[in-house]
Amino acid sequence: MKALVKTREEKGFELQEMAVPQPGEKEILVKMHRAAICGSDIKIYKWDAFARSIIPSLPFIPGHECAGEVVEVGKGVKNIKVGDKVASETHIPCGQCWQCQHGRPHTCENMQLFGHTINGCFAEYAVIPEVSTRKLPPTLSWEEGCMLEPMGIPYRAAEKGEVEGEAVVVIGCGPIGQFAIGFCHILGAERIIAVDPKEERLRIARSMGADFFINPETESVTKAVQELTVSAGRGPGVVIEASGSVSALREALDYLRVGGRLLILGQSQSPLEIKVSPDIVFKEAQIYGFFGREIWDTWEKTEQLLVSGRMKVDPVITHRFSLEEYQKAFEKALKGEGGKIVFTFS
Ligand SMILES: [Zn+2]
Ligand SMILES: [Zn+2]
Repeated sequence: MKALVKTREEKGFELQEMAVPQPGEKEILVKMHRAAICGSDIKIYKWDAFARSIIPSLPFIPGHECAGEVVEVGKGVKNIKVGDKVASETHIPCGQCWQCQHGRPHTCENMQLFGHTINGCFAEYAVIPEVSTRKLPPTLSWEEGCMLEPMGIPYRAAEKGEVEGEAVVVIGCGPIGQFAIGFCHILGAERIIAVDPKEERLRIARSMGADFFINPETESVTKAVQELTVSAGRGPGVVIEASGSVSALREALDYLRVGGRLLILGQSQSPLEIKVSPDIVFKEAQIYGFFGREIWDTWEKTEQLLVSGRMKVDPVITHRFSLEEYQKAFEKALKGEGGKIVFTFS
């Protein structure tokens, strides 16, 4: 099979020909149909500090957002059959630790990560543990199936944000922000304000249901948000941070409405300065972080929204490449333009 492989501790991948892996006990062999590039794959491509800290050894196959068809099952597999249409949950729980035993397998203390700590899906075939294999509704397209993993966290944010009737600000309109906008729209947000410096991304935000658009490079976000939310309350009731920018997060603490909810999806290692009383206590601000999808609760909910046709993935998927065109695909991804970039397999 063809596979993208990280072979050396430097920038880039190599396309290699290698043997199809065999599924072991409680493992599934999947023939890939779609696989999408995530922000973390870009980090692995660049081989930055995050990638170095998380990848145990090389060579290694990246990729974790995918949909494909089961072609073989290992010993002891009970719930998945050959021919099933499946996707993969990235967080592979141990089932034994305190988190797993208290209904939080997505934050397992001994978590393995598909495409990070074990080989992933940027290959014609991949082995997925049964515990993290999700059987998909038959009517879902391969591309919809492939988007369930990345749309899970933005769905959780929109749900926890109780966005119905609220003015919502979404900071960062990459794929995660775009999905967040889609879910806020479906869940009845009063208005959605999209913030991103790239006009192309603001255009996608419009097709996902955003109503107002702010380019932080040409105007003050705080001032624009305040002007847009006066009639809907005193500032936005919900802010979803999907850019990873600490300064954007700092501004959000200023303009968040009293009693509002701040939902943080963007990742950063940088410190954030918080004025405890004005930012949190007097404001009764509710601040939430999200890491992964609730297994399988989040999947069930997002699948239903796709099956019913209420949620759409088409505006978010802007580029499709074969695995052979991986250089072009990663050049696009590195520029941070458009939306999701998807590999298609013949
Ligand atoms: Zn991802
Ligand atoms: Zn565990």
